[in-house]
Amino acid sequence: MDAELIPVELAQADTPAAVSQVFLDSAGSSLPPRPVVDEVVAHLRREAEVGGYRAYEERLEELEEGYGLTAEFFGCDPDEIAFTDSASRSWLALLDAVPLGPGDRILTTEVEYGGNAIALLNLAQQAGATVELVPSGADGVLDLQALRDTLDERVKLVSLVHVPTNGGVVSPVAAAAAAAKEVGALVLLDACQSIGQLPVTFAGTGADMITGTGRKWLRGPRGTGLLAVRRAALAQLKPRLIDLQGATWTGPDKIDIRADARVFELWENPVAERLGLLVALRYALDLGLDRIAATVTARADQLRAGLAALPRVTVRDLGSAPSGIVSFTVDGMAPEAVKAALAERDITVTVSRVTSTRYDMTRRGLEQVVRASPHYFVADGQVDRAVDAVARL
Ligand SMILES: *Cc1c(COP(=O)(O)O)cnc(C)c1O
Repeated sequence: MDAELIPVELAQADTPAAVSQVFLDSAGSSLPPRPVVDEVVAHLRREAEVGGYRAYEERLEELEEGYGLTAEFFGCDPDEIAFTDSASRSWLALLDAVPLGPGDRILTTEVEYGGNAIALLNLAQQAGATVELVPSGADGVLDLQALRDTLDERVKLVSLVHVPTNGGVVSPVAAAAAAAKEVGALVLLDACQSIGQLPVTFAGTGADMITGTGRKWLRGPRGTGLLAVRRAALAQLKPRLIDLQGATWTGPDKIDIRADARVFELWENPVAERLGLLVALRYALDLGLDRIAATVTARADQLRAGLAALPRVTVRDLGSAPSGIVSFTVDGMAPEAVKAALAERDITVTVSRVTSTRYDMTRRGLEQVVRASPHYFVADGQVDRAVDAVARL
């Protein structure tokens, strides 16, 4: 990637907390920049003054424009966008709308996220469908030939994770999606860990459906999520749990279901958080997604190289061009103890467990790893400080 890095003074200007500590958990829940926080708080204040409905009506135009803004992100049309309260809500809503019957096959991959796997297994059991695991190669990256070999017209859905919750891999989603298309399978892409870290577009990924969260790399408020679904895919879906946002009650026994992605929204929504999410999306677009990706990659590479040079540390990342998520273990020290010891030095990391990525962690014989995820607002000197702190553990 040739994009210029974001100067750290610019990156930290709106995030005072990024200066006073080493924050390495943007894969968990990042530090929102000041404009995001201000927007949320201002709207809550306004609700206290005029009530939630009037406060909402005052912002209708911006909320409506938010669909266009998000569409810009994914390279699609505004009517292919919906907002939800989490990545999982987005993913579950789309999964539930995929028509499945006895004998249908669903393909998943070794980096599947725990929440998705649970939903897949439960739903497949009820529908009489099967969930089948496509293996990764020795490098930990999805084996495209194994995928091609198992695809047939009974495969109705291929579930892909762009960047897994740990392990560092960036999945070859475009090639996998192209293969899935050849048998007419729908491709559902979990982009929860890539949105806001890497550019994620329909053209670049080949997915039919993309889901993400606000609180991670996008630096939005908690309790926000989004989804994007191609019009052609939407026409094949059968949304089931619809309220008066997704349909109009036109007669005593008649409803008129929306034909756009907002069929997946519910009427009630956290307006302040939604507005904050839109500020976060605009903030990322203004900084430049390519510059963000280049800066995150530089910081993660620096962290990974620093950790790998320490005698007691094993970096647990796979793939040749790993993501901004750095996973590692320290000999003779439980990941929770590493996290706690670093927290005492104002360094925030988190622990990722086997229940989040069971296929992958089981294969590698891992129970837990420490996860460190530096965003563009982490200075390179702060990365050095983190490596130094791990060295002294
Ligand atoms: C965090 C995460 C999710 C779930 O996101 P929520 O916003 O908590 O629903 C899904 N997939 C991956 C890969 C994640 O890391």
